[in-house]
Amino acid sequence: MLVSVDDVVSSAIDAASHELRKLSLTIHDNPELALKEVHACKVLTDYLSSKGFSVEHNVAGLDTAFVASYQSPAGSDGLHIGFCSEYDALPGVGHACGHNLIAICGVAMFLAISSVLEKCQIPGTVKLFGTPAEEAIGGKITMQKAGVFDGSDLLMMLHPTPGYSGSWHSQCCLSMEVEYFGKASHAAMAPWDGINAGTAANVAMMTMNAMREQLKPDWRTHGIVTTGGKAANVIPDYAKIEYTVRTSWAEELAVLEQRALNVFAAAALATGCTYKVTKEFAYLDNQDNPVLGKMYEDIMHDRLGVPPARAQGGSTDFGNLSQSFISLHGNFDLVGTGVPNHTVEFTEGARTEKAHENALFAAKTSARVAARCLVDGEFWERVKGAHKERKSAPSAREFYEKLSA
Ligand SMILES: [Zn+2]
Ligand SMILES: [Zn+2]
Repeated sequence: MLVSVDDVVSSAIDAASHELRKLSLTIHDNPELALKEVHACKVLTDYLSSKGFSVEHNVAGLDTAFVASYQSPAGSDGLHIGFCSEYDALPGVGHACGHNLIAICGVAMFLAISSVLEKCQIPGTVKLFGTPAEEAIGGKITMQKAGVFDGSDLLMMLHPTPGYSGSWHSQCCLSMEVEYFGKASHAAMAPWDGINAGTAANVAMMTMNAMREQLKPDWRTHGIVTTGGKAANVIPDYAKIEYTVRTSWAEELAVLEQRALNVFAAAALATGCTYKVTKEFAYLDNQDNPVLGKMYEDIMHDRLGVPPARAQGGSTDFGNLSQSFISLHGNFDLVGTGVPNHTVEFTEGARTEKAHENALFAAKTSARVAARCLVDGEFWERVKGAHKERKSAPSAREFYEKLSA
């Protein structure tokens, strides 16, 4: 039974490989920023509709979110399995996170499990969630809040990285916008009459950098100036910075958040400015199901002969889903050169034939893991048991879930 299910998975993905490659290339060649993924959303949903799947558009009030679904002819009593596709790009560097590959991996796994449900006459439902804006506001969080994922027994997605892994404990992250308000004045004739908002931003960033010495190795702070003034001879009356802070666990995020808030307040006090902090979004840590992750890693290891590579940082809005659902965020090696995400080299790698091959092998692997959940009751019981034992920090988690909502 298991062998034939694996064959069904492989055949379905092999049969679609050429079409998936075309989808991947057109998304890569037309990079669109978060919430503006109109072309990507259209080509993906057109493709799914052309294959006869029902597709829901404009999901959860997001123009570029969609849900495609398929119900087994054997009935809907079985598991409800969902896959996530992402397709947003990054400013300036295009598909430097390889979301064109994530998009087609989602489609590939969806096609594979649809085929398993149909050909093996297994009851169940499979969905493909088109989830926009992973690099910005976290479309999955908006969709989760709207109840789009309700009823899912298992959620999966794939992401290209340097190396592969089925156990990525990603970081929690909180993004904040900090505005400083001062008073404009001539920078040479009457600087003493001004209150320099640009200096407040500067002090905040210097102090955040100085604080790094006392941060834990797995904590991160990083920020940019988005408004720093308009002319060197005018004391800026307004400045804006954006900061992200990250930790491994939600309860630590509360600690680092407070330290950052103290810094932002101190910069205002030091310069005589007033200030305002707007918390933008919070991603929670991703916790892969260890039983699912081990099967994924075992198959990958058999093929590649090298051990898994655990990513040392980074966050995903899929982490929020992993707090509530049984899940696997499989990472796969982009092209084997060790190039990190968010670089021009990664953008180039994400367009290669090699990356396409690696993506589809990962999709077959993940889909085999999902298929096993459908056909092997003892395996599924172990998966559920492991989910109950995962580490959680309810109070901090609830706080940040509320913030994200
Ligand atoms: Zn990214
Ligand atoms: Zn990414």
